[in-house]
Amino acid sequence: MESERIEIPYEDCNNQGRIFSLANRLGHDMNTYARRYMKSKFVAQGKDFDYSYYQIASPSYSLDLVDEAELHEEGARTDGISNDEAYWIGFFYKYFALSLSLTNEQAWEKIPFDRMRAFYAEYGAASKETAGEEMAKILRKEMTAGKPHVVILATGGTIAGSAPSAASVIGYRAGVLNVDEMLAAVPELADVADVRGETICAIDSKDMTDEIWLRLTACVNELLASDDADGVVIAHGTDTLEETAYFLQLTVKSDRPVVLTGAMRPATALSADGPMNLLDAARVAVSKEAAGKGVLVVMNGEIHSAREVTKTRTLGVDAFGSPVLGCLGTVDAGVPVFYRTPSRRHTTQSEFTAASLPRVDILYGHAGDDGALADACVRAGAKGIVYAGMGNGSIPADVEKALINAAKEGVAVVRASRGMGGTAVSAEPSYDAAGFIASDTLSPQKARVLLRLALAKTNDVKELRRIFQEY
Ligand code: ASP
Repeated sequence: MESERIEIPYEDCNNQGRIFSLANRLGHDMNTYARRYMKSKFVAQGKDFDYSYYQIASPSYSLDLVDEAELHEEGARTDGISNDEAYWIGFFYKYFALSLSLTNEQAWEKIPFDRMRAFYAEYGAASKETAGEEMAKILRKEMTAGKPHVVILATGGTIAGSAPSAASVIGYRAGVLNVDEMLAAVPELADVADVRGETICAIDSKDMTDEIWLRLTACVNELLASDDADGVVIAHGTDTLEETAYFLQLTVKSDRPVVLTGAMRPATALSADGPMNLLDAARVAVSKEAAGKGVLVVMNGEIHSAREVTKTRTLGVDAFGSPVLGCLGTVDAGVPVFYRTPSRRHTTQSEFTAASLPRVDILYGHAGDDGALADACVRAGAKGIVYAGMGNGSIPADVEKALINAAKEGVAVVRASRGMGGTAVSAEPSYDAAGFIASDTLSPQKARVLLRLALAKTNDVKELRRIFQEY
């Protein structure tokens, strides 16, 4: 027999309704029935049915696999429920499962059939979408009564990535899964909180922009100022996750938890790390201890502060660390535990608001650097330059000359270190005299985020130095 994968659309609640309707009439649970039904259709077409199709395709089935006539026949043979009603009830179950990120079985277990019939009686005359939404709203409220509200904001990245095979961890497309698909992969989220998803963007995070940052921070601030969210989780690509986290750390005005997470393996991979990271992030977002600790990053069972965390590996699920100061805590066996609290200013104590951000460039120091690029930054209109210097932010003599000239022209110069885990403190008297600013323990990319926000307020060197000591 020919073995072939049949394309199965994900969001087809209608079709789920039909399958359900058949299953119900025959007294089977929906999944067992759907599996059998699909198998019979594959076999009838002379194709080999591999249960992995079902696993991969679950929870949706292709519309053309369902035979309308068969459905009517079954309906006539059985239970006094009209075909229309059975179909609607099936649709409701599926809508309910999808909107609350439950599996079909969980939806089936949670809502007794008679309850669904009552919904049909009440809403059956309305449009399907209205009825489905109404029903999901009521049931969500009941199920999650007393549970905290968490909004998951999707931005793309590997956590929403799709690869051609389960063995691929590279060569995938980032940001392919939509937020509902991501949530549907983690039905356990419903045990933690009343979770709903929103999409901010669907990008590979290497392409992060100011515009998205501004939109994201506005969205987080709005959600946290309302009763809609007790905490926010942001699913993000890992490449610039640390920069977005630090930007939010400085621009979110709330004590409520904001937690970023991502994945190193695409959603389609064997042992994908995204689902557990998402669940852990939600656990941290509802944890009382997380409140007031600034923006957090949860990856691989560790809780990091946005200020210190950085991506330390290009592959592997243990890709994040806080090299200078260590993580704040862990999520071992599902329980967030904090050991430390950030002491630098953040969120509600931050003086920064997200506004239009001036250009700041980062230059990477190296042996033989002649300062030509520092001149180029000034010509390109940079209002600030972060120099990722050697060791304790050391700057080669020729570059120092170029940077002194830049500072004379009003460009703010921050000395950071290219060494991961480096601290740049005040070093040479000539650096101080030129008005260079030490980045403290901030990495060059974090120093750039802070400098941009600071420069939107002031370009006074004394003020900038204060800011780098306080944040
Ligand atoms: N390139 C991906 C991104 O940052 C990497 C990831 O998410 O792990 O969007």
